Amino acid sequence: MSAAEKTNLLNLDRAAMQEFFVGIGEKPFRATQVIQWIHQYGVDDFDAMTNLGKELRARLRETAEIRVPEIIQDQTAVDGTRKWLLRLNDGNAIETVFIPEEDRGTLCVSSQVGCTLNCSFCSTGHQGFNRSLTVAEIISQLLVANRALGRDPKGDRIITNVVLMGMGEPLLNFDNVLPAMRLMLDDYAYGLSRRRVTLSTAGVVPMLDHLREECPVSLAVSLHAPSDALRDQLVPLNKKYPIQELLEACRRYCADSPRSRVTFEYVMLEGVNDSIEHAHELVKILGDVPSKVNLIPFNPFPQTQYRRSSKQVIDRFRDVLIAAGLTTITRKTRGDDIDAACGQLAGRVQDRTRRRERLALRAGRA
Ligand code: SF4
Repeated sequence: MSAAEKTNLLNLDRAAMQEFFVGIGEKPFRATQVIQWIHQYGVDDFDAMTNLGKELRARLRETAEIRVPEIIQDQTAVDGTRKWLLRLNDGNAIETVFIPEEDRGTLCVSSQVGCTLNCSFCSTGHQGFNRSLTVAEIISQLLVANRALGRDPKGDRIITNVVLMGMGEPLLNFDNVLPAMRLMLDDYAYGLSRRRVTLSTAGVVPMLDHLREECPVSLAVSLHAPSDALRDQLVPLNKKYPIQELLEACRRYCADSPRSRVTFEYVMLEGVNDSIEHAHELVKILGDVPSKVNLIPFNPFPQTQYRRSSKQVIDRFRDVLIAAGLTTITRKTRGDDIDAACGQLAGRVQDRTRRRERLALRAGRA
């Protein structure tokens, strides 16, 4: 069997792994053993899996593989934010960012190479879309980061939280994101609680209901505007799923678990969405949705027309929300010196390749 035909076991969640083992005439419990080796212990050599018999190990070598993307850049910012650029099999690059804080360590994971949604303030959107990631490519980001970070002095893992908030719209790659999230939650893989895994979406309304039914992790929504007219400009997906439909889906999302709240992300763009009136409008539309608001100071990138709102304006906006009873925080900008905002490093790498070619091609045709 050639390498190309081997099953990459990183693509399999527990149910799929059980199927794989039953398919080769083994007992389903082998799935738990192998998942533990791969995801808990970070082992990618079948010969090191000592609780599997010699014959089974030989069989796995023939039929399966554990193919982890290669790290092509590993940078640490002065504030401790660490960023890996990973090369995929087809030459594409994706980025994963680790953000250490006092009480937690958060890994920001990508779900696609580029993004189809073209939000006007987003550097990933500017790169266009290349393809969705496989389960293996999504979960490998956690595997690679865990290996690189090791464990703390108590023997606990350093990554305590995962956010699907890197490049791409995770709900447009749900078939691959779902098994990857199941592995994040699996006690024999990463054992994270649902509260500690957050999926961030621009608001693909029908898929929110699927997420609620299949795997109700914490939800973050990129809102960025309090009215449809403005949101249509910033998040073009809004034309398809306008604010009221989106908020209705958010209410449904929280209905089953009374303690859960949706985190609304709101990027602060100078003179665009940052006035006192916008803040009041936001308070009004969020009304009875169990919510929390994250204000994100905009991180400028080369081709953008936007600028970051001043600290004073952000504070004023935040104070209106807080006075109205909304839990609101301003997100710290992290890793500025290594371009750790969503999509920025991979953007530069790819810019040197495909996007420029495509733009040149289009210009030639025009
Ligand atoms: S903000 Fe998110 S959904 Fe919008 S283009 Fe960027 S990656 Fe895609």
